[in-house]
Amino acid sequence: MGFLRLFTKQAPKIKVASTKKDGFSGWVKCTKCEEMVHANELQENHSCCPKCNHHYRLSAIQRIDLLADKDSFVELHTNILPTDPLKFVDSESYSTRIERAQEKTGRTEGMIIGTCRLSGHDACLGVLDFSFMGGSMGSVVGEKITLLIEHGIKHHMPVILVSSSGGARMQESVFSLMQMAKTSAALAKLHNNKLPYISVLTNPTTGGVTASFASLGDIILAEPDALIGFAGPRVVEQTIKEKLPDSAQKSEFLLEKGMIDCIVNRSELKEKLAFFIDFLSSNCKTPSPDKEEAKAQAIDEMIAHSKKAREKNMVEVSSK
Ligand SMILES: [Zn+2]
Repeated sequence: MGFLRLFTKQAPKIKVASTKKDGFSGWVKCTKCEEMVHANELQENHSCCPKCNHHYRLSAIQRIDLLADKDSFVELHTNILPTDPLKFVDSESYSTRIERAQEKTGRTEGMIIGTCRLSGHDACLGVLDFSFMGGSMGSVVGEKITLLIEHGIKHHMPVILVSSSGGARMQESVFSLMQMAKTSAALAKLHNNKLPYISVLTNPTTGGVTASFASLGDIILAEPDALIGFAGPRVVEQTIKEKLPDSAQKSEFLLEKGMIDCIVNRSELKEKLAFFIDFLSSNCKTPSPDKEEAKAQAIDEMIAHSKKAREKNMVEVSSK
C-alpha cells in the first residue's frame, strides 16, 4: 500500500447495494452496468468496474498514488491559501464554501503539485481534485500550476497535469479567468524550453480548464468515457434548446475528431505516461533498439489514426 493511501478520505462514489442485511458486506452495485462488484476488487482495479470498465472518480491523492513510484512524491508549495478578494456571496459566502471544502477534503485547495519518479523518470506532477469545489480553477490552482511549470523549466523536467474540473471558479470572477492566460503563458515558456507537457483528461474536464492548460498538451490523453467539453451538456441544452447526443462530449468522440491523442485505461496510464515522457524527451538517455521500434510503431499508429479521422470527416462533410 502506498503511503498516500493513508490520507485518502474518499471512497468511489457508488451506491452500496447490500451490506449487512444479506450478509454480503462489501458488495456494491455498479452505477453503470448495475452488476454486483466487491469493493476490494474495485479497489484492486484502481476504482474501475471489472465488469464494464466504468472508471470511477479518483481523489487527487489516489491519482498520485496510482502514478508516482512508491514514496517518491514530494509535494510543493503547500502554503498557498485561498482568499476572498471580492467578498463574493451567492447563496452563501465564498469564505464559507472554502472552509467547507477544506473540512470535507482535508486539503487547503483543489490542486496538489509536486515532483515524483514515474516508472523511474523524474517528473513534475499536478492533479486537480474534483471533490474540492468541483476541481474549479481559482487563483491558488492557477498559481500552483504555474509554479509547477516553472519548477519543470528550472530543473529541466517534464510536466504532467491531470484534470478533473468544472472549469474556472466563478466566485473569483476575473481573478479566476486570468489563470487561463497565466497557465497558458507558462506552458508556452515550457514549450520554448523544449520540455514535454502531457495533459491527462479525466471525467469531467470542462469550462476554463478545457479552454486553457488542459488542451495544450504535447500529448493529450483521456480516460475512457470521460466528459470533456467547454460548456457542460446542461448549459448547451439551455442555450441551443436542443439535446446533444450522449456521446457528443465524450473522450471517444473527441478522439475521433482529433482533439485528443489517445484514450488510455487507468490500469495502463502510468505505463503510457512513462512511454510518452521517454518519447518526447530530447535527452533520452539510453536509446535501445526495442525503444526505437516502439517509438516508430507509435508514430505509425498515430499517423494512421489521424488519416482515418481526417478521411471520416471528409466523408461526413461531403455527404452534407
Ligand atoms: Zn460496471
